[in-house]
Amino acid sequence: MRKQIVAGNWKMNNDLPQTESLLAELKAKKQTSNAEVMVAPTFTNLHHAFTALKGSKIEVIAQNMHFAANGAYTGEISASMLKSVGVKTVILGHSERREYFNETDEILAKKVDAALANNLRVIFCFGEVLADRKSGNHENVVGSQIKNGLFHLEASAFKNIVLAYEPVWAIGTGETASPEQAQDMHAFIRKTLSNKYGADLANSVSILYGGSVKPNNAQEIFGKPDVDGGLIGGAALNADDFFAIVNAF
Ligand code: PEP
Repeated sequence: MRKQIVAGNWKMNNDLPQTESLLAELKAKKQTSNAEVMVAPTFTNLHHAFTALKGSKIEVIAQNMHFAANGAYTGEISASMLKSVGVKTVILGHSERREYFNETDEILAKKVDAALANNLRVIFCFGEVLADRKSGNHENVVGSQIKNGLFHLEASAFKNIVLAYEPVWAIGTGETASPEQAQDMHAFIRKTLSNKYGADLANSVSILYGGSVKPNNAQEIFGKPDVDGGLIGGAALNADDFFAIVNAF
């Protein structure tokens, strides 16, 4: 059985008091689905988040990390630093990292290696821009992001990989891929995995959808057979909305 996952990416939002109050609201929510629930506060609040969520099943995860173990990389955070505050899962390759911080497939492959070497689980993000979708090139783009970022890995590494398909044109825009567009792409992603590693592995990897998932569209998107959950941006900043999505399975 593949894991169902709903992960909230808070991005560069919420200072410490705001983080503490949102976490208190989330901790008080009732979960009726079996999904694994995760939230990714900013680095400075990770330690506090673990304290605030003690006794809750909500996992605290990180939004990014550097590939180096340590050294002269001012402003960066390593895998072992994340581990030292209790992080077990890290988001890598978010489109905002790719676009605004020039994270290439090559850099991301190194980050994936560093995370796995430190026993961190990776939520690996990828997705096409609008021009690729319009020109019909979206599968090629997504296929090469997956191959370049992950296909150097041994099959056994995939037990610690979650995939997140996030069409860039749907992130923060209010524009969602239709449930059918999401399903088609998720099926393509699973086929791509299957061609390289075999059907058993492909069927064991959770593939999340991200891009303007809201309480009013989550159920239909999560109802598609190859969609195993969501990576949530804007709606993760509101406890009611986030838990409506968590409970949409
Ligand atoms: C995201 O940034 O990962 C995301 C999916 O954002 P939003 O839900 O706001 O589109």
